[in-house]
Amino acid sequence: MNSDVLNGLLRSIVQDLDDGCLIVAHSMEVQFGNNRVAEWFGWDSKTPGQKVIDVLPDHRLIETVQLAFKDSVRVERSFLVGIKKGEKIVERYLTISASPVEVGAFPEDPDFVQLIIRDDTEHHETEQIRKDFVANASHELRTPLSIINGYLENLVDGVIHDDAMTKRALITMQKHGERIARIVEDMLTISKFESVGLSETNLLRGRRFDVATCVRDVVDRLNPLIEQKSARVTIDIPEEAREIAGDRFYWDQVFFNLIENALKENDRDQLEVSISVVKTDEGHRMEVRDNGVGIPKSHLPFVFKRFYRVAKHRGSEVKGTGLGLSIVKRAVEAHGGKIFVDSTPGISTAFTIQLPLPPVYLEGEL
Ligand code: ADP
Repeated sequence: MNSDVLNGLLRSIVQDLDDGCLIVAHSMEVQFGNNRVAEWFGWDSKTPGQKVIDVLPDHRLIETVQLAFKDSVRVERSFLVGIKKGEKIVERYLTISASPVEVGAFPEDPDFVQLIIRDDTEHHETEQIRKDFVANASHELRTPLSIINGYLENLVDGVIHDDAMTKRALITMQKHGERIARIVEDMLTISKFESVGLSETNLLRGRRFDVATCVRDVVDRLNPLIEQKSARVTIDIPEEAREIAGDRFYWDQVFFNLIENALKENDRDQLEVSISVVKTDEGHRMEVRDNGVGIPKSHLPFVFKRFYRVAKHRGSEVKGTGLGLSIVKRAVEAHGGKIFVDSTPGISTAFTIQLPLPPVYLEGEL
């Protein structure tokens, strides 16, 4: 291949890279910037002699370039930087890698520095969520564990001696032991979600199941709680809405968490919980509704967050980890759906799921 053609091809590959790519000369003039650099920093290829200080918006980026020139080594740094997205400036987590490029005879004095700028925001956010999760989970486990250890110590040291006190201590330990078990169980579900890679295509490919059977099985499992609460549970799923594309394991989690919440959060007489699924032109619309205490408006935006529980005072009596709804949301989104909550405390609380039809390219496989 002739070298002009090769150069043209290489240039067009570099132009369209997802990463920003820049070549800076010793004079700190920008010699080349690709399309991403134009988009993020407003670099204009038609204006010759632009200085890097006028193109890159942050002094830490410029210092990285200077360091690569000075020490003649590759320098990699990550910063939170404001870049252009359309008309707006948005904060993104950028990783900048500056490598000296030497075309003359003195490697210790490079002629150019080549910059690759990668947008690592998503990776950074996922890492942050993971770190927060481990920190929160340890914190949530520490409380029941220290309560159990405290009681055990008192029992071993003979501080608790009569039968009635011993029984009370054992019941408290049992309650907190159950709480630890629930947290660990929910964490295992989350980790299972993460390890299988909950992608929409993975979950939808080749699977159909009957949502009515799934809901009925969940309600059967919750029967002891339904009886304890003297609740009335109704299921309304017409024939044409029964078939769903997806993974039943995850829908089991979705319905179990939603229906269990509707029951366990509520102590009122005549508690009613209704589960309905309808099929529309867009897909399925599912709803779990109850007429219990509800969720105050100010809490609604947070209920899907991990470890979020609305009323801690209610929470001491009601079993829960604050992980249930985050599991539900993740499972629904992995199927391409969305979940909403609306609540008028004391009157009606509804969790609604909009599930689109499976993508056309998968239809034949289902
Ligand atoms: P938990 O394991 O505590 O149930 P979830 O993530 O499932 O955690 O729910 C978060 C919080 O949202 C619950 O602690 C509860 O305060 C509130 N909540 C969820 N569903 C309902 C409901 N149907 N009625 C009232 N409060 C609810």
